[in-house]
Amino acid sequence: MTLRVALSAGHHNNDGGSPLEKTLTGPLCKAYADAFRAAGADVRVITPNDGLGMFPGGLRKVAQKVVDWSKNDGWTADIFLETHTEGVSNTNVRGVFSIYPDWGSDVDQTVKNELGLKIATAISDVSGIPVREGGVLFGPGVMSRMETEVGSHGDRLGIFLVTAELAATTTRLIVEHGAHSSPKDLAILQTPGMLAKIAGAAVKVICDHFGSSVIAPIEPVIQINGFFLGHGFLDYWRQLDIQGLPHPLGLPKSEEQPWTNPEKKQLTIQVFERGVLSFDADEPDPVFRVQGLIIGPDWGKNHGVDFKQHH
Ligand SMILES: [Zn+2]
Repeated sequence: MTLRVALSAGHHNNDGGSPLEKTLTGPLCKAYADAFRAAGADVRVITPNDGLGMFPGGLRKVAQKVVDWSKNDGWTADIFLETHTEGVSNTNVRGVFSIYPDWGSDVDQTVKNELGLKIATAISDVSGIPVREGGVLFGPGVMSRMETEVGSHGDRLGIFLVTAELAATTTRLIVEHGAHSSPKDLAILQTPGMLAKIAGAAVKVICDHFGSSVIAPIEPVIQINGFFLGHGFLDYWRQLDIQGLPHPLGLPKSEEQPWTNPEKKQLTIQVFERGVLSFDADEPDPVFRVQGLIIGPDWGKNHGVDFKQHH
């Protein structure tokens, strides 16, 4: 059995929402789709273009898709996840958390008791965004739909109401990936490569939860253009890969290799057609360990890079 995943990008529909949040929820949704596919899941994205586009209809029509797929196609999602970031007036409020449905007797116990906090913790560990303090009743990292009490935002949680008839078969949740109203969280979210790291961490937790029998291992290394590309460099490279646009770095032109920069710092680098990625193992903040530079095609030649393939 293959894990069936339905995804949507928060506010990428006709119901409005913060323009800043939309710049994050679309690429986040795409990053989840990429990570789930790499894990062997069967992914359907309601938002056009894997989350980057806009759905031609309101939020309830978005959620209705998940119900229609189950009714009409016999394709019932194991999990329906919508990507969001939080917007509040207090810029000190930070944190990542999951929201689960609690419409009457429809309470998603999986998210409430286990998965919600695990996802928030995994995202926090990989990004440095703190786990959001929860309410008095619900503890950190998880909130019920009712507890969010977010007037104008509350109606966005209508995705749960529409999908209530799937409660027995489909785990439904919203993940608030930090607060875009917090300068600290926003800086992290806007760091190149970060959204892929966040999605990768969340997808791993979700796949572990649903069981290794339904998924293939996440591919840490791929071979492309005759070179290996893996781990943090692969995450970063995938994050920059926007469908339909030329990749800003292009394809790899060298293997990973050690390199000493002009300040005599030891780095690991990999050269691409239009740029270079560097990895600094001594950088204390994981967010900044991998850095990318667009430097044109001649940089490697002038800096003693070994271009031969090792394989
Ligand atoms: Zn939102």
